[in-house]
Amino acid sequence: MARVNPDFRNTLLNYGTEDFSACYNCGNCTAVCSLSDENNSFPRKVIRSSVLGLEDELITTVDPWLCYYCGDCSETCPREANPGELMMSVRRYLTSRYDWTGLSQLFYTSKIWEIAAIVFLALVVLLLFVFFHGPMTTELTAEGGVKLNTFAPWKTIELGDWIMAGILSFFLLSNIFNMYLKMVVKNKMKIPFRFYFTELWALIFNFFSQWRFKKCEPREITFWSNLKSGKYNYWIVHFLLMSGYVILFTMIVGFLGWFQTETIHRWYHPQRLLGYYATFGLIVGVIYFSVLRIKKQNEKSKHSHFTDWTFLILLFITAITGILVHIFRINGLPNLTYYLYVIHLMVLFPMLMIEVPFSKWSHLAYRPFAIYFNNLITRARNREKN
Ligand code: SF4
Ligand code: SF4
Repeated sequence: MARVNPDFRNTLLNYGTEDFSACYNCGNCTAVCSLSDENNSFPRKVIRSSVLGLEDELITTVDPWLCYYCGDCSETCPREANPGELMMSVRRYLTSRYDWTGLSQLFYTSKIWEIAAIVFLALVVLLLFVFFHGPMTTELTAEGGVKLNTFAPWKTIELGDWIMAGILSFFLLSNIFNMYLKMVVKNKMKIPFRFYFTELWALIFNFFSQWRFKKCEPREITFWSNLKSGKYNYWIVHFLLMSGYVILFTMIVGFLGWFQTETIHRWYHPQRLLGYYATFGLIVGVIYFSVLRIKKQNEKSKHSHFTDWTFLILLFITAITGILVHIFRINGLPNLTYYLYVIHLMVLFPMLMIEVPFSKWSHLAYRPFAIYFNNLITRARNREKN
């Protein structure tokens, strides 16, 4: 028998939802949802489980991850129970349940803990620079640029990047494994081994494209009319932001020797073009999503959790300091380059360490994995039926 948690409503309120107890289970939200189907019927079922306190049922369901928060359900709910925001809060709650360290729960439910963790990690970076930085030479390269690699040798920074990437990958992957245990193993699904390979495309495709975002629109409108009317703006800007983030992460972790050079390449060199694309994506994305959140004009931007703002602010400072380091470096301003470089890493490091495995950006991994697990479950069920 399913265990009932009578205090579950309060638990979800801690993760940012508004009171959803007005829901009278009419099912209108599921009827209007363009992503809900007969295999995954939501959000009504998720709301029902939340109202009844069926915590175990929620922990094992994939449905909250299949919602991309278009807000249609909230707009049309006759009881103003705000099902879209509830789905968002359930995702935050699930993230904290997959995370075995308990850090995600702390960061999602306490501003103080999140800010303290950011400050702590920033100070660690500062202290490392105070004790281990190279000479702050004012001598410039033959092209008039700053000798950044003398102050912060790329091999040393790259070693730090690898350690950071190893730690955050370990946490994120172990949390995803926990998600797999809850969604697939706990549901007692027998998945034929070959499905894990044949469904891999869904994982890869959805990770890079976040395609369901685009599907979170009215179904009768064509792709081109949606594009012209701006219906896909959200997906396009989200894609810019995400791809900029992934490119920067790949360059600093995998190709720092190529990225952090003292040679000043021409503007059309791939190193500069990739850097410009990534920075453009981050800045446009941060401004676009911040304006939406400030204006609160549509459902999905009306309700901002403090972790939404923390993430946008960290991303903005990272992008701006990165641009300034680049400008000061190529214009031969050594001290400004060095100080800005330290500040840049003091923001970048906590952002990656906190946001990727424990907070806002973990959904970039959880969503495609949820779709992958869902495909495995659906195929296994269909196979059993036949
Ligand atoms: S959330 Fe609103 S639309 Fe959905 S079942 Fe409840 S009352 Fe109906
Ligand atoms: S926010 Fe949109 S995608 Fe999510 S449940 Fe509501 S209607 Fe469906």
